[in-house]
Amino acid sequence: MRQHPTPYKVAINIAWLKRDLRVDDNRALVAASQSGLTLPLYIIEDELWQQADMSARHWAFVAECLHDLRDQLHKAGQPLIVRRGEVTQVFEAISQQFDIEAIWSHEETGNQWTFERDKKVAAWCRLRSLPWNEIQQHGTQRRLKSRNGWAKAWDHYMAEPVMPVPTLTPLSDLELGEIPTSRDLGLRDDACLQRQSGGRENALERLHTFLNERGEYYRTQMSNPLGGETACSRLSPHLAWGTVSMREVAQITWGRQRELKAAQGLTTKNWRNALTSFSGRLHWHCHFIQKLEDEPRLEFENLHPTYNGMRPLETDVARLNAWQKGETGLPFVDACMRSLNETGWLNFRMRAMVTAIASYHLWLDWRKPGEHLARQFTDYEPGIHWPQIQMQSGTTGINAIRIYNPVKQGYDQDPDGAFVRRWVPELRDIDSCYLQEPWSASNASKVLGKDYPFPIIDYLEAAKSARQKIWAVRKGANFNTTAKAIQNKHGSRKSGVAMRGKRKKKENSPEQLDLLFDTENNNENAKKI
Ligand SMILES: Cc1cc2nc3c(=O)[nH]c(=O)nc-3n(C[C@H](O)[C@H](O)[C@H](O)COP(=O)(O)OP(=O)(O)OC[C@H]3O[C@@H](n4cnc5c(N)ncnc54)[C@H](O)[C@@H]3O)c2cc1C
Repeated sequence: MRQHPTPYKVAINIAWLKRDLRVDDNRALVAASQSGLTLPLYIIEDELWQQADMSARHWAFVAECLHDLRDQLHKAGQPLIVRRGEVTQVFEAISQQFDIEAIWSHEETGNQWTFERDKKVAAWCRLRSLPWNEIQQHGTQRRLKSRNGWAKAWDHYMAEPVMPVPTLTPLSDLELGEIPTSRDLGLRDDACLQRQSGGRENALERLHTFLNERGEYYRTQMSNPLGGETACSRLSPHLAWGTVSMREVAQITWGRQRELKAAQGLTTKNWRNALTSFSGRLHWHCHFIQKLEDEPRLEFENLHPTYNGMRPLETDVARLNAWQKGETGLPFVDACMRSLNETGWLNFRMRAMVTAIASYHLWLDWRKPGEHLARQFTDYEPGIHWPQIQMQSGTTGINAIRIYNPVKQGYDQDPDGAFVRRWVPELRDIDSCYLQEPWSASNASKVLGKDYPFPIIDYLEAAKSARQKIWAVRKGANFNTTAKAIQNKHGSRKSGVAMRGKRKKKENSPEQLDLLFDTENNNENAKKI
């Protein structure tokens, strides 16, 4: 039962911050502040941080965001309060000191653990007759009945005014609470020396330089592992942890698009193409999260059940380790994995390729590789990650099967070998023309099996075998009926749209990602063996 306010307790609203680590355009914070005295709270949940998909590099990024957020909230009137523990116990403890009138937060489409935690919090609030108001976080909708009209709803939501920073009244007698290090949290050390830094200033700087300086060749460079580092926006960790809102990003992008349009003749077609591609991807962010929101089992189960049992559930640890460490003997794959370990980021095509290599060539069930990639991506966003992992592993039943040829990808995306040379220095004596397939070089025996391994699989044979096994499964009697139902539930109707109000008649959907990428890169055969 809800405790009645006592004369000694001050009534407050809690703004429970999770993956929305900002004061600007934070509807949960604004709503709380409009209801009365507000306590802005971040809760460190040890159990969450011990989950298999979480890592020290995530925490390091979040901790930077929390320090920054504390400063921003301080300027708004009440610094961030940090507590560590199980959420309902933290709320209980706060209720000893204050009369909690309501809890405000954004809706979270997290992993299964946060979903279960949210159910527990909801039950606790019900028991105490305490309102918990969850507010839509971006274009993803809770309890969505149908995908019809989804893209239009996204446009409307993003066009709504950006919320100003609220003015908060300071609360007295409150310990601010420590922001621990990842070691304090008991997380495995994970230096990630070239990781992106957290905090809002970094997010705004990324957005500004992308739209005005770095982004001109986004469309042609995005799949290149070196060029993509600067030509891509690099906003992903900021969108994932909420230092900037999707609405802010969308509106600033549309503004820049209008500016470019007005300056026709003075600006290049590259810029216009770049921002058309980019604004489409902002839809994809929410389109993918919607899938996990609608079907949380996607984190654990094949979306299309016909694939159950196709790959062994028992992990081939030697193959998994070689892939994780970048020691498969396939230089381009190894360079991608090593660069990811060191930087926390990979471009889309490289993420798709390393996932496909694990799933097809190494024939590993997607769950363990998916967990590893989740831990390595600073921008880990469960709602994008798990649907993408399944899509690139070919277990959704509704997407094209894309078995990348790792050698051809190397030649296409890293033609001068600079990326491989940077991350696989063991190949320094191999001539550039053999860098993607060092086993063909005349001096191969001096390097392979010594400094650098022979390939752990025959990549052509492995791809052929995977293809045969998949098509054998797909020929099953009920495959198409189930696939149609999946398409109906999760498939995009209209998305990947251009600038708001400028939607083309025929649009590319994320389901056609392979087609789009091949067109953009004029690289039709890239995914073929
Ligand atoms: C196996 C796999 C796992 C992935 N896991 C994640 C993840 O955990 N977190 C994450 O943010 N992205 C993930 N992506 C999508 C994509 O690779 C990253 O969003 C992108 O590389 C991030 O770099 P950027 O911000 O420079 O992207 P940009 O190309 O500049 O795009 C801007 C934003 O649009 C969104 N976006 C771009 N591409 C996609 C896409 N294909 N699907 C959904 N949203 C997209 C992201 O929010 C991104 O930050 C994954 C892709 C694959 C293939």
